[in-house]
Amino acid sequence: MSGGTFLGMPSFPAAAAKSTRDRRLRANLSHATRIIREKRARAVAELADWAELRAAGRAIKDHTLRHLDHYLIQLEAAVTAAGGTVHWAADAAEANRIVADLVLATGEREVVKVKSMATQEIGLNEALAAEGIAAYETDLAELIVQLGDDRPSHILVPAIHRNREEIREIFAGRMAAWGRPAPEDLTDDPAQLAEAARLHLREKFLRAKVAVSGANFMVAETGTLVVVESEGNGRMCLTLPETLISVVGIEKVVPSWRDLEVFLQTLPRSSTAERMNPYTSIWTGTLGPEGDGPSAFHLVLLDNGRTTALADRVGRQALRCIRCSACLNVCPVYERAGGHAYGSVYPGPIGAILTPQLRGTTSEIDASLPFASSLCGACYDVCPVAIDIPEVLVHLREQVAGQGGHRLERAAVKAAGFVLDHPGVLAAGERLAGRARGVLPERLPGPGRAWTDSRDLPDLPDQPFRDWWKKNRSGSSAGSSAGSSSRSRSRKDSR
Ligand code: SF4
Repeated sequence: MSGGTFLGMPSFPAAAAKSTRDRRLRANLSHATRIIREKRARAVAELADWAELRAAGRAIKDHTLRHLDHYLIQLEAAVTAAGGTVHWAADAAEANRIVADLVLATGEREVVKVKSMATQEIGLNEALAAEGIAAYETDLAELIVQLGDDRPSHILVPAIHRNREEIREIFAGRMAAWGRPAPEDLTDDPAQLAEAARLHLREKFLRAKVAVSGANFMVAETGTLVVVESEGNGRMCLTLPETLISVVGIEKVVPSWRDLEVFLQTLPRSSTAERMNPYTSIWTGTLGPEGDGPSAFHLVLLDNGRTTALADRVGRQALRCIRCSACLNVCPVYERAGGHAYGSVYPGPIGAILTPQLRGTTSEIDASLPFASSLCGACYDVCPVAIDIPEVLVHLREQVAGQGGHRLERAAVKAAGFVLDHPGVLAAGERLAGRARGVLPERLPGPGRAWTDSRDLPDLPDQPFRDWWKKNRSGSSAGSSAGSSSRSRSRKDSR
C-alpha cells in the first residue's frame, strides 16, 4: 500500500468481478453486514429525536466546514496553550515525515497504534517501517489484518471478510513473528481468540514509549481530542506511553463541547449499534511528568486532498463524514463486492465519493469508483450527517465523463444524436433491425458485452412502430371525434 492506494489495484468492476465469485467472502460479508444493519436499525429507532440529531449533525459540520480556517487556528492555539505541539501536513508524504522524525527524536524504534483511518490513508506504517520503526496495531481487527499481511475491508470492522477459523489460522501462524506467540492449543472459540490477542498486545502496551493515534473529533474551543472505541486498546495507547502523536484530518474539528454532544449520540448507534461506546478517551494537551498520561503530545493536522474536496460545492459534503460505516452495511454493492474492490482504505459508498476527491480521478481505479453504486439511496437514508451520497456520485460521474474517458459511451451517444436528428436514417435503421431480428446475437460483442452480461437485450419488433401506425391508423388522426374513436379502438386492438 502507498499513500492510501492499494498499488496495482484494477478498476472497481474488474476487482468486483473477482470478489463476487468468492463464495466464502460473500458469506462472511452477508452474515456480518446483516447483523450490524439490524442492530443499528434497532438502536436508532430507540431515539425519538433521531431526525433532529441528524439535522443538527449536518448543520454543525456544514457550519464548521464553512469556517474551517477559523476553527483550525482556534484549535491550534488551544492545543499549544495546553502544552501540545501542532504540525501542519499538506499531504501524506509530509505527514509521514513529521511522524517519523518525531519518533526518531525519542530514540524509540517501535510505536503502538490506536485504530486510525487517517494513518492508513497516508500509509504511515509502511513509511515508519522504511525508517526502521515498527508500528504495532492494537485494535483487534487491525491486528488480524496486520498479522495476516492483509488489507482492511471495512471502516469499523477491518477484518469483516475473515471468519473465526481464518483468524485462528492467522494467530497460530503469525503471532510469534510479531511478539508473544498464540497458545499451541488455540481453537476458533471467540473467547480464546480474544485472550490470545489480549496477551499478545499487553506485552506491547507495557513496553511502548510512543503511541500514534487518530481522533474522532477535535474540540476547537479547548484543544481537546476525542477517541471513541470499544476494546480499551485505545485507552491503553493514549495513557501509558510517554509520547503521543495524533494524526487527524482537518475536517474532524468541531467548534465546542455542545457540538460534540450531538455526535456522541449518533456515532455509537450508527457504527456499533451501542447506546454509548464502552470507551471514550478525551484529552487536552499534556499532563506533565507528574500527571497521568503522555508528557509530550503532538497533533499532526492532515490536509491530503481535503481542501480540494472543500472547494467543490457538491462534493464537500463528504467531509461531514464521521466514519460510522453505516452506509457500508446497507449497501448492496459493498455487501457483494467487499471492501478490497474499492482499492482504498475508504470502501463502500463513502469511499466511492471520498477517495476520488482526495486522490483525484486520474487513475483507473479512482475514475471507476463513482460508478460503484446502484444509486439506490440506502446510504443516504442511514447516514447520521445526511450526506447525499447519490448526489455526489452523480456529480463525480459527470466529472469523470468530462475528462476524456468513456469514449465508447460518448461515441454511442453522438451516433444516437445524429440518427435521432435524421428521421429517414432512423426509419431505415429500424426497418433493417426488424428484418435482422432473427439473426441478431443475444449478447453484445466487444466492450458492450459487459452490459448484456447481466441484462437481456430487449426483443425487437418485426416492424417499426411508425410503419405499423401508417399501415393501421393512417388518416384516422384527422378530426377530433374521429381521432377519439380511433384512440378507443386502438386501445382495444392493442390488448
Ligand atoms: S458517509 Fe455517513 S453513513 Fe457513511 S460512514 Fe460517513 S457518516 Fe457514516
